[in-house]
Amino acid sequence: MIPGIEGIEQEYVIDSDDILAGSKTAGKKVVVIGGGSVGAETAHYLMESAQRKVFLLEMLPDIATDMPQDAQIVFAKEVKQMADLKIQTNTKVVRIKENSVIIEKNNEEQELKDIDTVVLACGAVPNNELVQALKGIDAAVYTVGDALKVKDATKAIYEGAMAAIEV
Ligand SMILES: Cc1cc2nc3c(=O)[nH]c(=O)nc-3n(C[C@H](O)[C@H](O)[C@H](O)COP(=O)(O)OP(=O)(O)OC[C@H]3O[C@@H](n4cnc5c(N)ncnc54)[C@H](O)[C@@H]3O)c2cc1C
Repeated sequence: MIPGIEGIEQEYVIDSDDILAGSKTAGKKVVVIGGGSVGAETAHYLMESAQRKVFLLEMLPDIATDMPQDAQIVFAKEVKQMADLKIQTNTKVVRIKENSVIIEKNNEEQELKDIDTVVLACGAVPNNELVQALKGIDAAVYTVGDALKVKDATKAIYEGAMAAIEV
């Protein structure tokens, strides 16, 4: 995940995968960039696992819009009740500075200060290195799931099943 945001290369900017896998931990005041299901679930996890203040930033008017609708309603209701989870929708991250994040909302810039960790949960792209490496081998190669396009498990299972049927 490497969205083109100025300042993203800084050490305190980490990936949501690292948080969820437990390979990195976040500080006390955290910004999560991206309020899709992955960012929203990461923010929820960060709130559960320690005493923190978390800002969940999303460009769209709502969070977790890629979840099934029933799950989204239940989830959104729960996270909106978490006092220290500040959900900011219609909000774009402009740049990441040293320990602060500049956001744009309603055509105005604001600074979220004293941030310990920035977590990226946006801009996921397929990893198809293996597909490239297998080019030219004497066998049929099928690319399915997130390696083809990042989406969800049901689509990945369907595509895998269709490939298996074809084989
Ligand atoms: C936090 C989070 C929550 C999610 N929640 C949901 C949800 O609730 N519902 C839903 O439907 N989807 C959800 N998704 C999306 C879902 O997990 C993915 O769409 C799905 O796992 C894609 O399946 P896949 O088999 O294509 O890829 P993966 O599940 O990523 O599996 C790919 C496997 O290939 C292995 N691999 C990679 N490269 C190589 C290589 N070169 N050689 C050998 N092995 C390799 C990897 O280690 C991995 O085990 C979620 C995703 C995230 C990140």
